[in-house]
Amino acid sequence: MPANLTCPDCGTVYEAGPDEPWRCACGRGLEFTERPHPQGDPLPLHSLDTSEGLWTFFEFIPIEQHVTFYEGFTPIVDAPEWDAQFKLEYVFPTGSFKDRGATTTLSRAVELGVEKVIDDSSGNAGASIATYAARAGLEADIFVPADVKQSKLMAIQRADARPVRIEGTREDVTAACLRAVEGNAGGDDGAGTDGSSAPRQTGEGWYASHAWNPAFYAGTMTFAFEVAAQQGWTVPDAVVLPIGHGTLFLGAYRGFSLLNEAGIVDGMPRLLGAQAAGCAPIVAALGGDTVDADDAGTDIADGIRITEPARGTEILEAIEETDGDAIAVGGDPIETALDRLHRNGFYVEPTCAVAPTALEQYREAGVLDDDADVVVPLTGSGLKTL
Ligand SMILES: [Zn+2]
Repeated sequence: MPANLTCPDCGTVYEAGPDEPWRCACGRGLEFTERPHPQGDPLPLHSLDTSEGLWTFFEFIPIEQHVTFYEGFTPIVDAPEWDAQFKLEYVFPTGSFKDRGATTTLSRAVELGVEKVIDDSSGNAGASIATYAARAGLEADIFVPADVKQSKLMAIQRADARPVRIEGTREDVTAACLRAVEGNAGGDDGAGTDGSSAPRQTGEGWYASHAWNPAFYAGTMTFAFEVAAQQGWTVPDAVVLPIGHGTLFLGAYRGFSLLNEAGIVDGMPRLLGAQAAGCAPIVAALGGDTVDADDAGTDIADGIRITEPARGTEILEAIEETDGDAIAVGGDPIETALDRLHRNGFYVEPTCAVAPTALEQYREAGVLDDDADVVVPLTGSGLKTL
């Protein structure tokens, strides 16, 4: 039986199904009612069978495996110039960490008997959902801005998904997507057994949203399991991650939290966020500096240009709980860092350079000790930006 959904704020429970609400009536993102984790001591990495990639950690995932390329277990390598370890999250079937969430989200869609999935994304998430829908044999509509880059459109079309181009702002794209998800009845037909009026998915398809769907985060949390396993079931002192919607940031937080709950590790890494100057809502919420002299961060880091993260409150909670932080970095240092990454053999997309840039600024500001053990994910391949 697919896991039901619940709201961590008001406690409402919603029954699993193709028309389940995509968020709570109170506005909060939903979670699964189940938080499974394995019992007993974890196996050391050398005796762990990792042939099924991130699904090695199926005991933590409240979703049955239906759609997979056995993705995950990405390499973690020394990066001496940065005195850190880089986790190569661009080593995935579609060249970005978004595949972590796509394998679990499409698996959930199959579990629910969904026939068509819908997402709104102009970048890596759209390509990833389209690709995993192809693997599942499901139809997919991906809502994109009318001025979407040709290369990104191609990635969606190649997988036989249907791009739906919408004029206007990024927010207009999401609004059009939600109209398709909810159908004409909108949120008014939601009175279910719970009696609430949550926005149900009675329109053209199921919202495979990388920002809202808890199934996506059930996948991205495997990042934390892999880091811990690759470090002999310990956690690093800090992880520096980019924040757009925070899909990897929150996944890391959930994964490390679950490892602690299961008694597998003891302690949380500090979660340090990286945003681009000019579009840094989390930094702004923390009262930090969001502009830079050149203020061109968002032009380069288009992959994290999100003005209103769907789960912003949760991101702030994760920062608070882990003694974390978030800073905004400018366009010039990002470009310099990107060149340096490429010269060192890390062929990543520009958005990826934001976290290594932030790492250096955290060190300069004394937020991180010189000998701190730090992991930085490199989230997307440079091959797609050609
Ligand atoms: Zn609620």
